[in-house]
Parts: sequence; C-alpha cells; structure tokens
Amino acid sequence: MSDVTEAVEDAKPTADGVMVDVHGVHKSFGPLEVLRGVDLKVRAGEITVILGPSGSGKSTLLRTINHLEKVNRGWISIDGELIGYRRSGGKLYELKEKDVLKQRTHIGFVFQNFNLFPHLTVLDNLIEAPVSALRRPREEAEETARRLLDRVGLADKADAYPRQLSGGQQQRVAIARALALQPKVLLFDEPTSALDPELVGEVLDVIKDLARTGTTMIVVTHEIGFAREVADTVVFMDGGVVVEQGPPAAVLDDPRHERTRAFLSKVL
Ligand code: ADP
Ligand code: MG
Repeated sequence: MSDVTEAVEDAKPTADGVMVDVHGVHKSFGPLEVLRGVDLKVRAGEITVILGPSGSGKSTLLRTINHLEKVNRGWISIDGELIGYRRSGGKLYELKEKDVLKQRTHIGFVFQNFNLFPHLTVLDNLIEAPVSALRRPREEAEETARRLLDRVGLADKADAYPRQLSGGQQQRVAIARALALQPKVLLFDEPTSALDPELVGEVLDVIKDLARTGTTMIVVTHEIGFAREVADTVVFMDGGVVVEQGPPAAVLDDPRHERTRAFLSKVL
C-alpha cells in the first residue's frame, strides 16, 4: 500500500516537554533523497533556528512537519500526537485528508511570500480559518483577530487589503493570521527573505516578542544575528541531514564541523 511508511519499532510519540519530535525522517523526490534521516526535538516554549545552504532540505523539513509532504521513513509528532499518520500493528497508515487538515490547524506556517488572501481584508484574513476550520463564532474570531493585530502593531490596518500594505506589514499580518488558530507550534520559512532590508527588523521584532511569550517556534532563516539573540537551539543542516545543533554560542561561535564553519564564513 502506497500510504504505508516503513514500520518503526519505536514509532510512538514522546511526551516529557517535547513539543515537536522529528524522528529519523527520510524524504525523497523520485531518485533525489532530500532528507536523509533527520532527528530534531523542540521543547515546548523554545525557539529553534535552522540554518543551512540553499537546497539542504530546510523547506522540505518544515513541510513534512505539517504534512504538506509525506515522509518515506521515520515519523513526526507534535505534542505527543503523530502527524499525518496513525499507528496500527507496527505500521503507520496515512490519515484521511480531513484529519490531516484538523492536525494542521495546530501548526502555524509563515511563508517567505506572506500568502495572504488578496481579495480579503486584513481582518477577514485572520477570521477565515478560525470560522471555517474551527467553527468559531464570528464575533469571537473577530475579537481575537483585533487583539492579534494590535499585538503585531497593525490595529489600524484591519480594513486594509494586503496590496495596500508594505511587505513587512503583510508579513506581520501573516504572523497574526497564523496565531489566530492558537497553534501549538509556529513554523517560519525564511520569513524575511522577500523583504526590503529596511523592513526586516519589524518582522524579526514581532517574532522576538513571540519568543518572549513562550510560543514554540521553528524558524528557517539566514539572519545570524537573530539566531544568536533569540534561539535556544541552532540547527545547521546540509545535504539533508542535521550536521550539528546546540546553543547559539556553540554552533555559531565554536562550530565543530568544517561544513558549518564554511557556511558561517559565507553568511557572517
Ligand atoms: P532549502 O529550503 O534548504 O533550500 P528545499 O527543501 O527547498 O531546500 O529543497 C531541497 C532539495 O529538494 C532541492 O534540491 C530541491 O530542488 C528539491 N525539491 C524540493 N521540493 C521538491 C519537489 N516538490 N519535487 C522535486 N524536488 C524537490
Ligand atoms: Mg527553502
């Protein structure tokens, strides 16, 4: 059966403060093996920054975490729940689409290119998913949306359309929209890469603010200064594997692997 991934003996989620558990994940596109056994644990309330050269598998890893991509081997759990699969008789079977969608509401995703709904106002961008996916009453969703817009400094833009906002403002809306579902974890894929340099700071400030309030986050970025300041753990990926990981001071200032050193010498 095509939706069965390889049986893994210890394919059961772990609890003990681990919010995101990526275990032995392999992912190929045809003959191209993009993830070659990735292990990663992110504890609740912590922020993990993933660094690595283009093509190293960072986006693919994030996409497997919310099951936008199936895995070929291994498993991922969030808050103790397997993502995308259920376990039966030592094998993993892919969940039905509606169950995957339900799981995905617990996983916020912020993309490089904002991906706001262009035909909806800022407020409606934030209300859409809570109302349609979570069946929240509209008034309640609107109250939450206004609070979140205030939190990202855009309370006065509720009735604007995305095209009327700067890139930095659009990305702050996208972050507020992700938060509107009260996710267990927020994933960011190069959230500032599409921005003009002078707009990067305002988006990083919003993410830093979230870090202070204990939101669990995984951030793929090339912003080394941000990683140094905010990350609990820095992960360096290359060639579809985690080459090294640890506190920012260890990975950024005293990397143990030549590949990490070579990468940092190019981006610092
Ligand atoms: P990164 O985000 O680190 O730049 P990606 O995860 O986007 O890396 O891509 C890793 C590799 O996988 C690249 O070689 C890319 O071309 C390939 N890849 C990504 N998505 C697909 C896909 N849907 N089909 C085929 N190849 C893909
Ligand atoms: Mg990428």
